[in-house]
Amino acid sequence: MTDLLNVSGLSVFYGAKAQAVENVSFTVGPGQVTALLGANGAGKTSIMKAVAGLIPGRGRVHFDGQDISALPARDRVRRGVVYVPEGREIVGDMTVRENLTLGGYHVPGRERKRRTDMVLELFPEIADKADRSAWRLSGGEQQMLAIGRGLMAGPRLLLLDEPSLGLAPMLVRRVFDRLGAIRAETNLAIMLVEQNLAMTMRICDELHFLRGGAIVGHRSAADLQDSAARQEAIDAYLGAASAA
Ligand code: ATP
Repeated sequence: MTDLLNVSGLSVFYGAKAQAVENVSFTVGPGQVTALLGANGAGKTSIMKAVAGLIPGRGRVHFDGQDISALPARDRVRRGVVYVPEGREIVGDMTVRENLTLGGYHVPGRERKRRTDMVLELFPEIADKADRSAWRLSGGEQQMLAIGRGLMAGPRLLLLDEPSLGLAPMLVRRVFDRLGAIRAETNLAIMLVEQNLAMTMRICDELHFLRGGAIVGHRSAADLQDSAARQEAIDAYLGAASAA
């Protein structure tokens, strides 16, 4: 199987000395969900932003067999690499519909309308409020709008940064269920950053554990089916990281 995303030897620096990501390599196959798990500050967001071209990184990023390492973020979006930021970052003063239009700004009008309808069908909670200002949405609805805005760009790889942040468990479940449905329909690949292992296990195929900017372990979801194996992975990779 050809990889959709192939990241090799990625390092990210903030300033001359602060290294946030150290020589990280991994792949994501077509339609696959790959999760990055790790404590606060482990480097998860930095990896996602470097893959999206939003911050500079050393190393190589190949997408669909082509080296995109030197491409600016907007060209990566056109190829289908779309980042949905942590904290949602929707435009509060604009309506729900206008926010969606922003996500598909480079898409021709008729296709943009088709995608808007698709997103509103997928998230009926925000369809009812399509012409209201986005700041009036609840936290969960804002998260749906942020994911919907990402979908407007026609992603082949969605980079989802902590979609469960600040959401009630019921809403998290709903968001993850919708993501599962989107995947089943569109063969969309997802790179997911999460701190919540249980939620991540609901949809992911592969998990990479990060600590101090480096990948310190890898498991397939199949490896973590029983709770003893999950606990072992938490103790080995997350517990120690959280305690550090
Ligand atoms: P969290 O779960 O808290 O979002 P994370 O795993 O996503 O954490 P990053 O946000 O990638 O981690 O941060 C990795 C390291 O880089 C941390 O030590 C952080 O302090 C540092 N860092 C992140 N952004 C910047 C920045 N803009 N300037 C300087 N250092 C930064």
